[in-house]
Amino acid sequence: MSAYVNAVISELAAAYPNADCSLDYISPFQLLVATRLAAQCTDKRVNMVTPELFARFPDADRMSEAGVAEIEAIIHPCGLSPTKAKNISETSKALVSNFGGSVPGTMDELLTLPGVGRKTANLILGEVFGDKNAVVVDTHCARLAYRLRLTENHLPEKIERDLRAVLPDGTARALCHRFVEHGRCVCTARKPSCGVCCLAEFCPKRL
Ligand code: SF4
Repeated sequence: MSAYVNAVISELAAAYPNADCSLDYISPFQLLVATRLAAQCTDKRVNMVTPELFARFPDADRMSEAGVAEIEAIIHPCGLSPTKAKNISETSKALVSNFGGSVPGTMDELLTLPGVGRKTANLILGEVFGDKNAVVVDTHCARLAYRLRLTENHLPEKIERDLRAVLPDGTARALCHRFVEHGRCVCTARKPSCGVCCLAEFCPKRL
């Protein structure tokens, strides 16, 4: 398995050397909010909405004082706006009450925040706190991991566990970003382009 895993890692690293988080943010709080907005929405659309949102409510203190309806009116283009606005408001209040307005740096603490699951928590740990072993299981990562037989599971928590078991130390965060790029460009959900894929030589192509 390790030679195979290393081949996947090195091919994707060569194909997407600059793969990174595509959400725009200038603080841990803003990344937390942007990640919440990205649920069932494209990062591109989130990045169109957040400049106005963060201009008006740039940090947890200011966001916690905003009305849910005010937040909802701005984030409406991202979809699911009533739920997202409520989560963002409650999360901001929890940050102010429990963490002095800062985003905490452990998985357990992050999971206490309303609407924050392991995917978001791992993203924060990876991007903000530099955890190179953070495994962010989004839809692309889940699909790629299954097609490449790095997991037999479809549940994000189990996929995360399986990836942690096979990935070499310090490789997960970058690989997950590269899975997103590859999933968007080549190994798409509907029609994977195996003919032009850099992994085609050894991928089991479990579609
Ligand atoms: S060979 Fe096909 S199934 Fe395998 S990663 Fe590439 S596009 Fe996806």
